[in-house]
This record gives sequence, C-alpha cells and structure tokens, in this order.
Amino acid sequence: MQAQSPNTVTSTARCQHRTAAGRQCRSLASDPSSQLCPHHAATAREQDFREVLTRDAFDFQRPQGVNNSLGALYNLLAEGRISPRRASVLAHISSLLLRTLPAIDYDNEHYTYDDDEPDAETEEQAVAESAASPAPQPVAPGKEPLPKTAEEFAAAGLNRKPN
Ligand SMILES: [Zn+2]
Repeated sequence: MQAQSPNTVTSTARCQHRTAAGRQCRSLASDPSSQLCPHHAATAREQDFREVLTRDAFDFQRPQGVNNSLGALYNLLAEGRISPRRASVLAHISSLLLRTLPAIDYDNEHYTYDDDEPDAETEEQAVAESAASPAPQPVAPGKEPLPKTAEEFAAAGLNRKPN
C-alpha cells in the first residue's frame, strides 16, 4: 500500500468498484449516484438489464416469455435507461427467437429424435394403414418396404420406373 499525499485523489472520489482481490478501481467516479467510473457504471447497468430482461423470459422457449422480455425492454427504453441502438438489437434477437418457436413445435410434433431408425411414415399414413389392416403388418399389401437409410430412399426415388 503506497502512502497517499494530500494531492492524490481521495478514495471516495474514485470509482467504488473493487476487484475480487479487494483492489479499488483507479478511475474517477463520474456518476455521483453510483460512485462508479463510466466503465464500471456501464457494466453494472448491463448486469441490471440482463436480470430485468430475463426475469420472466422462461429461457425464451415460450412466446409468453419473449413477450415478457419485450415488455421489460420497452420499459427500459421508455425510461431512457437503455440506448435505442442496444434496444433495437435486443428486440431483433427476440423477434428471431420468437420465429423459431413454431418451427421447434413442428419438429417436436413430426419427428422423434430418440429412435434409431428414421420414422418415414406420416401420422395420416399410419392411421390409414392401421384402419385398413387391423392385424399388425410390417409392410402394407402392394407396397415396397421403406428404405432403411436416407441415401437408399433417394436412390429408390431416382431409379423408380414410371407405372
Ligand atoms: Zn471503475
């Protein structure tokens, strides 16, 4: 610890941020309310924004969560606490997140990823086949068995002769 002369900046005028080791930031505090330098004041605000914007966001996995986050973003912008530029980028990301949700729902409804073999049957085909043949049959009458791999499926399609 070095001795402080009367001319050195007093510790209260300095940024009150301290490192994990307890060392005080050397920059001047610019904001009297937070007693932080511009850099650490901005860092503190960003952490605050993140908490506010993700509090009710449900990890952005539900439309209601994205809606909640956008509402919080609106309030931050209306209060002048976040820059329009940053708010604009966050709103755009929210829009992208929202747009992927229906695609994820569609995937979850139509595909199962835990099966070893790809399930090529649509639900309608499965329903029609089960109605037509009550006894379980691996292949419906008059139908070729489905190829095991995507490559075989593509090759079968290309080599198919016109009826
Ligand atoms: Zn600082």
